[in-house]
Amino acid sequence: MFKNYKGAIHIHSTLSDGTGKLKDIVKSAKSAGLDFIIITDHNHYDTKEGIFDGIYVIKGEEISPQNCNHYLALGINEEILPEENPQIYVDKVRAQGGFGFAAHPNEGINENGEERKNSHHCIPWTDKNIKPDGVEIWNWFSNWADNLDDRNIFKLAYCYLFKHCITTNPSKLTLEWWDKLNNETDKIVPAIGGVDAHALKFYKYIYPVTVFPYKTCFNTVTNVIHLEEKLSEDFFVAKNQILDALKSGNNTIVNRHTLKSIPLIYMKNGDKKYFCGQKTELSKDLCIKINSEKTLELLLVYNGEEVEKSTGKTFNIPVEKAGKYRIEASYKGKKFLYTNPFLVQG
Ligand SMILES: [Zn+2]
Ligand SMILES: [Zn+2]
Repeated sequence: MFKNYKGAIHIHSTLSDGTGKLKDIVKSAKSAGLDFIIITDHNHYDTKEGIFDGIYVIKGEEISPQNCNHYLALGINEEILPEENPQIYVDKVRAQGGFGFAAHPNEGINENGEERKNSHHCIPWTDKNIKPDGVEIWNWFSNWADNLDDRNIFKLAYCYLFKHCITTNPSKLTLEWWDKLNNETDKIVPAIGGVDAHALKFYKYIYPVTVFPYKTCFNTVTNVIHLEEKLSEDFFVAKNQILDALKSGNNTIVNRHTLKSIPLIYMKNGDKKYFCGQKTELSKDLCIKINSEKTLELLLVYNGEEVEKSTGKTFNIPVEKAGKYRIEASYKGKKFLYTNPFLVQG
């Protein structure tokens, strides 16, 4: 069966505006039960890489103009500077053999496309006609900041103390954009979930308050990558395995704060099993199978359209048409899981 590995993506260290050194971040990742982390400092590409204390540490860069169009660049060779036109750095990332994800693309924008009203400095992807290689569909910190109510100290304290209650699910607009990008191509446009961990420290109260320590973040939005083979013990081989999986959409995005046990989701064609991001041919016994320890509310999305809703622990969904299928799942009414698309060819 497949090998699953858990990772956190989109992390800031002291090299940009995060407060943690690599050593502390690795320690937090280990105690959160992760296998890999991807550090993406703003406009920096010089994090140390390797296997530290059993955690695979991969460097990326968040190419970050001041007010918009942040881009998580992975698999590049050297630092890329921000530009006014994001198309320039989207192309530069590809020219270096890398790939990238539009970060928090609808930050600060509500479901009706209006600006949210709080003091958080919002940084959306402004021109949705400029196509990234992939989309960060869920950004835990950004999701929290979008729902932040800072009209007075009591509301602010509530949002800080009950952070998991006010953090909801990916923006509908972002999911629609991701589906649209997928509908425009035969290939998979992959998605990731980011934590955007900074562990920011505030000193204006009696004692310093750390907003979202790394460990807290690492127990939330997680990328579960699916591999055919075990992760190599050679760092550079393993790095390629992880990045290839993310580029191909072989990952499921799960908020582990909502549900720790990760359901098994695959497509079955005859004797063969496929995980998300993989492709198979249409056949008469093709189906999507799901096994979960807990009862889930499931949504099947076909070429961007919601086609089926059901509740249970095991599911066997026949597939009768070519196209892209993806799964969303909720636990106790809270969305917590998004697969990348499964590709079925006619
Ligand atoms: Zn950003
Ligand atoms: Zn960031």
